[in-house]
Amino acid sequence: MHPCLRVLERTIADNGEALERVACPLCGETNATVALEARDRLYGTPNRYPVVRCEGCSLAYVNPRPTPEALGAHYPNDYHCYRTIDSYPKWLQPMARQDVIDQTKRRLKNIERVLGPIQPDMQLLDVGCGQNALLHFIKEERGATGLGIEMKAETAARVREQLGMPIVEGTLLDAGLEAARFDLVVMLNYLEHEPDPLRALRESRRVLKPGGHVAIEIPDPEGLPARLFGKHWVNLDVPRHLVFFDRNTIERALQQAGFELVSYRRFALPAYVGLNFLLTFGAHNIMRYWNTASATGYVLGLPFLPAMPWLPEFSFVVAKAIETEPKPHAESR
Ligand SMILES: [Zn+2]
Repeated sequence: MHPCLRVLERTIADNGEALERVACPLCGETNATVALEARDRLYGTPNRYPVVRCEGCSLAYVNPRPTPEALGAHYPNDYHCYRTIDSYPKWLQPMARQDVIDQTKRRLKNIERVLGPIQPDMQLLDVGCGQNALLHFIKEERGATGLGIEMKAETAARVREQLGMPIVEGTLLDAGLEAARFDLVVMLNYLEHEPDPLRALRESRRVLKPGGHVAIEIPDPEGLPARLFGKHWVNLDVPRHLVFFDRNTIERALQQAGFELVSYRRFALPAYVGLNFLLTFGAHNIMRYWNTASATGYVLGLPFLPAMPWLPEFSFVVAKAIETEPKPHAESR
């Protein structure tokens, strides 16, 4: 199913979860040192998941991790990415709505800074599009109707029915899209969830026109919050986040998939600063009271607004498809 990725061993955890031990998803190296062990703080499930650092390329990744089949159980319907604004309490809805608008505008700005204004005839693909906020905004503001891919059936149905926008239910790897179709592939907070990120990047390059771009938003494991909060860092989000790309490893992954890095920008969000404090102070199973937790996180983070440039939580990367053939993966080592 994942030909790029080498699964070394399958085991069963004490609580019965099916786990797999994999070689480095980026370079294929099998030696790695344990950086930390973390629990699932959003749902409070009992397993501990080691985050290891590859001795070959320094990529940080979860290993062992749930098998692809076992991963589905870690994405229940109340996972925050699937929540609609209507599901929030009335008093929180204006803030949640504004947050989506602000994030969408920031993402579009980061993309257009490199590509120039999105044109109505451009072909766009958003992998893991969730509620499809970015493509919907682009359709309204720029006139281009992009295609979304979303594996959560209920979310995909909502996009199709309520927004009337085209969407493929499933994954990029299974979608079987035609080659050289798109001008831009977007992956917002998607790649860290992907069991085989290199394969997903290669597939995105295959569906891009020559000179097309990929825009990627990922957690930043090099930022001060990640280093300061360690196993309490909110963006660890194990075992949903499986791979943690820093500037060097994402550039290497992009190169191996046939891209050239064009733009790399770090940024912070106040709510995440607050959520980091909540988790450090012992908050547990926060998905049970996610609305309150995210609102509290936002309030706790507000005093840190002036310090945002020093507290990057995410990075936004834009890369260009290059003409040469991608290098073969190091799995042949
Ligand atoms: Zn590696």
